[in-house]
Amino acid sequence: MRIGQGIDVHAFGPGDYVTLGGVRIAHDHGLVAHSDGDVVIHALCDALLGALALGDIGRLFPPSDEQWRNADSRTFLRHCTALVAQHGFVLGNADVTVVCERPRLAPHVERMRATLATDLGCAIGDISVKATTSEKLGFTGRGEGIAATAVVLLQARAVPASLVNEDDSELRAFVERVAAEVDADVVRPAPGGSVAATTTQRQRGP
Ligand SMILES: [Zn+2]
Repeated sequence: MRIGQGIDVHAFGPGDYVTLGGVRIAHDHGLVAHSDGDVVIHALCDALLGALALGDIGRLFPPSDEQWRNADSRTFLRHCTALVAQHGFVLGNADVTVVCERPRLAPHVERMRATLATDLGCAIGDISVKATTSEKLGFTGRGEGIAATAVVLLQARAVPASLVNEDDSELRAFVERVAAEVDADVVRPAPGGSVAATTTQRQRGP
């Protein structure tokens, strides 16, 4: 059994909607990001990667890579789901908390849960999404941005699973490349630092 936690923050900027948990929500601002700024999915991805000790979302989907510009974050989540399966685990449950004053998220929570469950290949009952405010305190309280935290529990599969979407050759190639990179890091750690030190020094991700 493995546990992972993730946190993500994006600032408000120009725009007329935000994307949270894969759901587009009308708002008087957008979120500033290299991708779509989906803090819910980014926190969830970091929790999954943390549970697998595979680094973080910025390492797997570097902002310097044009491939991920304006990316739909659901793509990131599906890739992380594949990594979980490839490493012989299945999601036990996930718990996400979103912190903002606005927009009001309660009407959208069920759609977020359903969307996340689809990409994680699990039951909606295994996914919790909660929304709270910070009582007008701090950057979320001043309406400068949105924060999200996520905790996940992974359970070892009784029978090792093959990749989800086995027919997806692009996804398979990505997972195999990440696995090779992680192996290389383990065999040849960066001078003066561990794998963890290398990843934490990287620029924040999407
Ligand atoms: Zn992010």
